[in-house]
Amino acid sequence: MKWLSIVGARPQFVKAAVIAQSIECLEPGKRPVHRLVHTGQHFDRSMSAVFFRDLPLPKPAYRLGVGGLPPAVQLGRMTERLDRIIDKERPDAVIVYGDTTSTLAGALAAAARHRPVAHIEAGLRSFNRRMPEETNRVLTDHASTWLFCPSRHAAEQLAREGITRGVHVVGDVMVDALRQSAARVTAAGPATLKRRGLSAREYYLATVHRAENTESAAPIAALFQGLNQLERPVVLPLHPRTRGLLERAGWKPSRGGALRVVNPVPYHEMLVLEQHARSILTDSGGVQKEAYFWGVPCVTLRRETEWVETVTAGWNRLVGLEPGAVRSAVASFSEAVRSARRPALYGRGRAGDAIVRRLMKDLKN
Ligand code: UDP
Repeated sequence: MKWLSIVGARPQFVKAAVIAQSIECLEPGKRPVHRLVHTGQHFDRSMSAVFFRDLPLPKPAYRLGVGGLPPAVQLGRMTERLDRIIDKERPDAVIVYGDTTSTLAGALAAAARHRPVAHIEAGLRSFNRRMPEETNRVLTDHASTWLFCPSRHAAEQLAREGITRGVHVVGDVMVDALRQSAARVTAAGPATLKRRGLSAREYYLATVHRAENTESAAPIAALFQGLNQLERPVVLPLHPRTRGLLERAGWKPSRGGALRVVNPVPYHEMLVLEQHARSILTDSGGVQKEAYFWGVPCVTLRRETEWVETVTAGWNRLVGLEPGAVRSAVASFSEAVRSARRPALYGRGRAGDAIVRRLMKDLKN
């Protein structure tokens, strides 16, 4: 049996590593061949190579090198190249992850060659069609044979869209990834904080990269100016897209402020920074969930989220980008939040095994 995983962006490396690990846990004679295709959507070393170094990922069997293009052009080129690979490899299943251009390209190419698609992280919606990710999710779900949902809420959304077959609520593979790393991350904490000159709970961690938040430089520059005035350090591992936007606009933070702009950090270091932050400010989907897992209050720099359960549970606030609103959310999101209940909203870290088991079973029949 052969499975092809299509990856290309940072969070997809994390998710595919979980599937690779669950395959490894099968008895040697019973494992499917698992080939990885790296589309090249993320190509910066800090956004790609470091993840292959740190996570249990197989070396990509194919590298498409389709990075740095407008989304529609990228989609076309990826789909064309994936078509050739799928035709040659004839996989029994094509696995796609999340909501990027690589996800949709994989789903379209597989569907065109009548190969069944497994979508990991199915059923999520922001209902904001200005987000390219929203279109990617909706179309991928409607082209998939297996829809692996992180929560019941996601499965209910699929049902509202008429999709009920092949839907499996398995939990979130990112919880698996985090749990598999948790002991190592906790052990690395003190040394990492020391090296970065930080004290636990005495700094904020921020990330901003969503396409809808990086259409123009002015709102981001205003936000960063606001963050620069916070009373504790703000560590900002800056995504290349956001960095490029600010550089083209000639913006730099004024010296002596709270903001500490750094390059994107490797996954385990990111988890350390999350675990010990006072609060997290982010527009990332993955980082919102990770904040919840660690029990760190999250201020989301968007007006809506796909991960609505974290908001309902009281650990996440949707604030947008406006600097005044962000500052007051950070100030008012008190330590008291930390004692709120934190049920396992997205499973207990066994999603990868459930997905692999289900695919094995269905493909044998
Ligand atoms: N991440 C990382 N280094 C960073 C920033 C994020 O390893 O400097 C990880 C983060 O811990 C999470 C994933 O990347 O596991 C989230 O990816 P991203 O924010 O790019 O995408 P999203 O989740 O919004 O799709």
